[in-house]
Amino acid sequence: MKQTFCSIITIGDELLIGQTIDTNSAWIAQQLNPLGIPVRRRVAVGDVKADIIDAINQERKNADILIITGGLGPTSDDITKPLLTEYFNTRLIENEAVRRHVVSFFEKRKRPMLDVNLQQALVPESCTVLFNDAGTAPGMLFEDQGQVIISLPGVPNEMQFLISAHVLPYLKKNYITPNFIHRTLITVGEGESYIANRLQSFEQTLPAEIKLAYLPKINIVKLRLTGTDIDENTVEKYFIELKNELSDIMYTDTDAELEQVLGQLLIDKNKTISVAESCTGGHIAGRITSVKGASAYFKGGLVPYSIEIKESVLGVNSDTIQQLGVVSEHTVLEMAEKCCLLFKSDYALSISGYLEKNDHGNEVWIGVSDGVHSEAKKIIAPFDREKNTTLVVNTALNVLRLWILRS
Ligand code: AMP
Ligand code: MG
Repeated sequence: MKQTFCSIITIGDELLIGQTIDTNSAWIAQQLNPLGIPVRRRVAVGDVKADIIDAINQERKNADILIITGGLGPTSDDITKPLLTEYFNTRLIENEAVRRHVVSFFEKRKRPMLDVNLQQALVPESCTVLFNDAGTAPGMLFEDQGQVIISLPGVPNEMQFLISAHVLPYLKKNYITPNFIHRTLITVGEGESYIANRLQSFEQTLPAEIKLAYLPKINIVKLRLTGTDIDENTVEKYFIELKNELSDIMYTDTDAELEQVLGQLLIDKNKTISVAESCTGGHIAGRITSVKGASAYFKGGLVPYSIEIKESVLGVNSDTIQQLGVVSEHTVLEMAEKCCLLFKSDYALSISGYLEKNDHGNEVWIGVSDGVHSEAKKIIAPFDREKNTTLVVNTALNVLRLWILRS
């Protein structure tokens, strides 16, 4: 079977000066992955006719499918439509359905319509029009010499609508793509190279049709097994082996976030939690409440950033802080214990530490408690402030998850 390739061309001066980050091509590539259509190249060009034509000609040598985004707005800097009309040697004609859509689009929003808006109804005669329910600029699909060239607006939600509603169904219908099976698990607490080292022999047993991918984030590594044109049972067999290899650090065998897994665990056990986080300043609470339905188990959180609030609101003993330090095992143990009592939750998590290296070091203490028993863990925060926050939040959510699993 001949491999089909796609190239993505993104158009807009804003992309070249770094004012807009090209998220379109990343999103499109993500949609094409499951279809088994690899993206050969991603090219960004400015709103310059010669450069756009050059990119199209070049990419037609590399790929069978070209997806172009941008340059379809009503303003004079957007030149993709007249350019493609000329390129495919066709002419602009009015499309009645698009015209009706544009008129009703403005009527519904009670906004005055300008002549330039009506020009959206002009489309190249030889293209298939892709109706844009999310905006006014239609997409255009040209079939030419066995290749397909698809032009979409640059506005992300409009482009996404057109890809989902029109482009993916078209590609599924017209291209025979290999059969992919993906299985994902996620680990926390170990680095990618450490895991790769552990998996050396496992990787050697994998047949050619199964590939293992490592997708690392801070403290989190996603491992994806992908089987190409191979039966599901075989992929499952290797996936079970992979899970066994990493059972001590795996937190899920689906594609779920740590906070979702923690939430489900609390629902299953019918337990509640609260947090008292100093240096992470609410990020843990933010992650917990990013999960729909978190009110079933999350009682609340406190950010006792100053020593004064740690003592007066949370009730940590001032002797503990003075004698053992605000960033210390005993302080987080007491913080977690007092947090449990304050919020009347089954478990509490506490954090106190330095997110940037200073005279006191760069350690962060994580405490967890059920109001009676408590436990603490120290981690070193070696990155910048932002990365360290993520490191601490991920570690803390996992500390809490493991504590609940054991209790
Ligand atoms: P256009 O179709 O050229 O009128 O694009 C309209 C808007 O979409 C631009 O002002 C950008 O904010 C946004 N946009 C264009 N291209 C991209 C891209 N590749 N990634 C993300 N946003 C984009
Ligand atoms: Mg533009």
